[in-house]
Amino acid sequence: MRLPAPGGLPGIDAMNELRLNASYYRPEHLDFRETLRRFVAREIAPHVNEWDEAESFPRELYRKAADVGLLGLGFPEEFGGIAGTDTFHRLIASVELAQCGSGGVVASLMSHTIGGPLVALYGSPDLKARMLPPVLAGERISALAITEPSGGSDVSALRTVAIRDGDHFVVTGEKTFITSGIRADFFTTAVRTGGEGAGGISLLLIDGDTPGITRSKLKKMGWWASDTAHLHFDGCRVPAGNLLGKEGSGFRAIMENFNGERFTLAAGAIGFAWVCYQEALGWARERKTFGRRLADHQVVRHRLVDMLASIEAARAMLEETAWRLDHAPAGDPQLVGSICMLKNVATRTMQFCADAAVQTLGGMGYMRGTHSERIYREVKVNMIGGGTEEIMKELAARQLGL
Ligand SMILES: Cc1cc2nc3c(=O)[nH]c(=O)nc-3n(C[C@H](O)[C@H](O)[C@H](O)COP(=O)(O)OP(=O)(O)OC[C@H]3O[C@@H](n4cnc5c(N)ncnc54)[C@H](O)[C@@H]3O)c2cc1C
Repeated sequence: MRLPAPGGLPGIDAMNELRLNASYYRPEHLDFRETLRRFVAREIAPHVNEWDEAESFPRELYRKAADVGLLGLGFPEEFGGIAGTDTFHRLIASVELAQCGSGGVVASLMSHTIGGPLVALYGSPDLKARMLPPVLAGERISALAITEPSGGSDVSALRTVAIRDGDHFVVTGEKTFITSGIRADFFTTAVRTGGEGAGGISLLLIDGDTPGITRSKLKKMGWWASDTAHLHFDGCRVPAGNLLGKEGSGFRAIMENFNGERFTLAAGAIGFAWVCYQEALGWARERKTFGRRLADHQVVRHRLVDMLASIEAARAMLEETAWRLDHAPAGDPQLVGSICMLKNVATRTMQFCADAAVQTLGGMGYMRGTHSERIYREVKVNMIGGGTEEIMKELAARQLGL
């Protein structure tokens, strides 16, 4: 039995296309999807095994991603963003990127989607003009630095301080688990400028070459191709003009930013679940045991049906949420809770499908080089990063007034 070709899946025909609800998509969405599909198949999928083992990918990929319109999605046109896009473009981007089978590549390649929006929304015109164009062109890398060694779930308790000194802030503290932390040129950083609690938190854009920053690489269970770092800020002098929004307004901005991150993570998780399903299906159709294809054993074909059913259900919830994000009246009280529940449903779907795919592949599913093996290693970060499963439930419960 041969290994599936890196990035290529055996025995998949058009009938097995992930079924998107056609009524949500306009022709420009489908064109964008085709462009991305070709980009992922050509520029990413053939390399993911090599990049995983190297724990990195070429910096050049950022520029290539910018060229196909991936990096500018959702950002203002005047700073290099792409006009006329909506939540369905972001959904398509996440699902199609997932088809490469490596969450690590996607996480670092797209880290500007968590670091950049806070600058676009709250940065001064000068700051936006300095940071956004090179990031959206793939020439510079943006990261988001919120989590600290003392904890990530309770953002209101963060300890990194920024003390005003003339026309600068002096930043001292630590951040950890920061995606793109080794390579980033800009850190969108949560700091404490005031007293205890949420009201004392502000956001600062810190240039990566600021004296006093040290970075160390972290080793991980999965997402090997993504660089993840621990950061020390030791008396870093940051211009006061790098403040994003008003002093003390950081907590609310961070919480709003999480909605976009959680939606994107959910869309990607469903994309990765789909990759697992495809790989398991291809294997079950090819491999024979006891004189029959695996798919001819009832337990195996039932498992495949369970995988597809869970993907279809999560996909329907994803599209419904995307539609509400674009159309629901501002302040829809249920929307934040829905995004939290979607993230949990999507990441559970990914976990179930990764486990089912590895089981279907048998020993081969345990071997490096299959998508299922990598995705099985990567799934937990989706249930932890951007807000853990437990925190998602707490937020949803609060929104529902339980
Ligand atoms: C690979 C990777 C990349 C990451 N990238 C980034 C990044 O780019 N930027 C960034 O800022 N952060 C990043 N993170 C950090 C991530 O957002 C945090 O790990 C996450 O928010 C959880 O924080 P924590 O790890 O400190 O866990 P903790 O907050 O210490 O929580 C530990 C456990 O306790 C549970 N728990 C906590 N409070 C409660 C409660 N009230 N009720 C019930 N259970 C609770 C949690 O759900 C969790 O299971 C990344 C993490 C990983 C693993």
